[in-house]
Amino acid sequence: MRTGIGYDIHRLVTGRKLVLGGTVIPFEKGLLGHSDADVLVHAVCDALLGAAGLGDIGMHFPDTDPKYKDISSLTLLAQTNRMVREKDFSIRNIDTIIFAEGPKIGPYRNSMQQNLAAAVNLDPDCVNIKATTTEGLGIIGKGEGIGAMCVALIE
Ligand code: MG
Repeated sequence: MRTGIGYDIHRLVTGRKLVLGGTVIPFEKGLLGHSDADVLVHAVCDALLGAAGLGDIGMHFPDTDPKYKDISSLTLLAQTNRMVREKDFSIRNIDTIIFAEGPKIGPYRNSMQQNLAAAVNLDPDCVNIKATTTEGLGIIGKGEGIGAMCVALIE
């Protein structure tokens, strides 16, 4: 058994779609980034890469590469899944936290769970999504960004 941890944060700006866990969420702002800036999926990629000893997301999908411009991060997660399985690992479970002052995550939790599970060929029961605010504190609390963490167990 091996574990990996992933963390990411992106800035919230006007004029961008908000994509979290592969689900488009109606909101007045979206996350800024080279890809679709899906902070939750980026944290999951990093946790899986970390568990498998494969470095990090920036090494494999650099934000200087035009082929990743506006790409769905679920595509990057599916590619990460292939890399992990090519090393003969299987994924046991993925646990995540989204840090956001808004929007409410609850209504989209199921959809995000299904998206993540499908991208890594895992039973949705083995993918967990939690969400919390930061009680108005710090950059996330002020609504300037959204963060995410992930822990993954592979065998
Ligand atoms: Mg990122």
